[in-house]
Amino acid sequence: MKSTGVVDCLIIGAGPGGLTAAIYLARFRRNIAIVDSGFSRAALIPTTHNCPGFPMGISGKEFLKRLRFQAAQYGVEIQAGEVMRLKQVENFFEAHVSNSGGSGTSRHRGRDGGGGGEMSIIRAITILLATGTADSRLDTRDWKTCIRKGLIRLCPICDAYEATDQNIALISSSPREGVKHALFLRTYSQNVTLIYQAKAELTSAEKRRLRQVNVEVIEDALGSLHIRGESKPSIRLSKGEELQFDVIYPMLGESPRSQLAVQLGARCNREGKLIVDRHQRTTVAGVYAVGDVVDGLNQISVAAAHAAIASTDIQNRLNKLGYRLCP
Ligand SMILES: Cc1cc2nc3c(=O)[nH]c(=O)nc-3n(C[C@H](O)[C@H](O)[C@H](O)COP(=O)(O)OP(=O)(O)OC[C@H]3O[C@@H](n4cnc5c(N)ncnc54)[C@H](O)[C@@H]3O)c2cc1C
Repeated sequence: MKSTGVVDCLIIGAGPGGLTAAIYLARFRRNIAIVDSGFSRAALIPTTHNCPGFPMGISGKEFLKRLRFQAAQYGVEIQAGEVMRLKQVENFFEAHVSNSGGSGTSRHRGRDGGGGGEMSIIRAITILLATGTADSRLDTRDWKTCIRKGLIRLCPICDAYEATDQNIALISSSPREGVKHALFLRTYSQNVTLIYQAKAELTSAEKRRLRQVNVEVIEDALGSLHIRGESKPSIRLSKGEELQFDVIYPMLGESPRSQLAVQLGARCNREGKLIVDRHQRTTVAGVYAVGDVVDGLNQISVAAAHAAIASTDIQNRLNKLGYRLCP
């Protein structure tokens, strides 16, 4: 097991949140390490149209590439691997990292480890968690292809505009979320169907509200999803009936990747998202969280804003603790 010197901040995750934080902290002339396991939600985005500064849209992969390039201008290199465990030791944190090879070292890091599929330890004064969240998936083999083609969409705020006037199915198992998203989608199309996988009954007020705006409600345990080649997706209901749509929004919940902070004692809300204050501090001193892992809107701009706030607070905290002021 190789180990590193103590860095000012260990950033866990190199999606939009982690990479923005890396750019800020490197420009604050901090020694940082950044580790990433390669599952950014942003990499799934076919083309985002609501990211400021890209009037013609940009693919998630290209956006991440540009952020990586920007971070690299300040000497940041991303270590490929997964942080398996965080431990608090005296006045710093110790991260156990399973390296997946192709690792990089940053000249901002006081380190000597990494690479070759082995375990290494990174010690850090502060931790910034930008680990994101994982969407619950429908049972289909072609999940990524369907997302790339816009047949399955996961975020009405991101891309309902692109589904304007289409025949939209929304699948939900939560009455509150189902009704909320159906009403939101109704801004874009007259043809919205809520396929509701009942866990709790919709109230008569909820049903009435949906009827008023012509949202069709189908209460069904949902048989299976069918997508053949380039054709439109269809859903086979449990009794065999098959319904075809232009686009399907499965809003089936998510699993925030908050475990590392929770192991340290950080508090989460009911959905498992980390609770932070207005400086992005979790309830554990020295541990920050940004982006989709935090309670709030799952959006690139939100992750970037969180990262700017957290990095600045980390810089102030390190200065206050007397770590490396310019001589
Ligand atoms: C299909 C789709 C379309 C979307 N469209 C838009 C859009 O148009 N506009 C918009 O603003 N947003 C959009 N989003 C949402 C956007 O992608 C997210 O809000 C954004 O990626 C959040 O950034 P993040 O840095 O918090 O997390 P992520 O981008 O998910 O990055 C988290 C990173 O942390 C890594 N990680 C996790 N755990 C560990 C660990 N233990 N060790 C090391 N690394 C770890 C992961 O591998 C991942 O690379 C879309 C999302 C999806 C799925």
